Amino acid sequence: MEEKKLTRRQWLERGSVLGLVVLGGVPALSACGGGELDCTNPQGLSGDNRTQRQALSYVDHAPNATQRCEVCNFYTAAQPNQCGSCTLNLGPVNPAGYCSSFVARS
Ligand code: SF4
Repeated sequence: MEEKKLTRRQWLERGSVLGLVVLGGVPALSACGGGELDCTNPQGLSGDNRTQRQALSYVDHAPNATQRCEVCNFYTAAQPNQCGSCTLNLGPVNPAGYCSSFVARS
């Protein structure tokens, strides 16, 4: 079997194409909803929001799937794949999030 050797230029060209494919794939995944929503440190989070999050043990992913922000009485949804809001001053929260003040929406 004949072994084909690549020149340095061919290696660099192939590496550039691979890099563009990898780097281009990440934003494309997010744009089509494939990325996971992260509301752990959203833009505009105030010091009071952070204090409240800590006091109420907020987590971005509920440990119990039946008790999550999107079914909580204090939650208001935003656009799809965006952080919603909580009336208890936690700032933008994840629909899949949870805190110790969870109350099921009636
Ligand atoms: S009270 Fe807690 S569980 Fe309910 S929406 Fe706010 S952060 Fe989520």
